[in-house]
Amino acid sequence: MKQGIHPEAFPKAKMTCTTCGAVYQIPSTVKEQSVEVCRGCHPIYTGKAQKDIKGGRVERFRKRMAAGHGGLDRSVAGKK
Ligand SMILES: [Zn+2]
Repeated sequence: MKQGIHPEAFPKAKMTCTTCGAVYQIPSTVKEQSVEVCRGCHPIYTGKAQKDIKGGRVERFRKRMAAGHGGLDRSVAGKK
């Protein structure tokens, strides 16, 4: 290894998640760092994002059609 060109390595650097407060020990070139999201709280890993997607425009439309009053109210439009 060439001398004087490599950064200092910390095999057990401290990484803190600012969202859920989890603390990890990771190899890094900085001793302490913080991240906004980690594997413990990111929606991709927790699966919460998939639940939030449900109940969108299509879902609301299907619910309205199933209830029997979708589209225009023709009883009002036809009267004079
Ligand atoms: Zn986190």
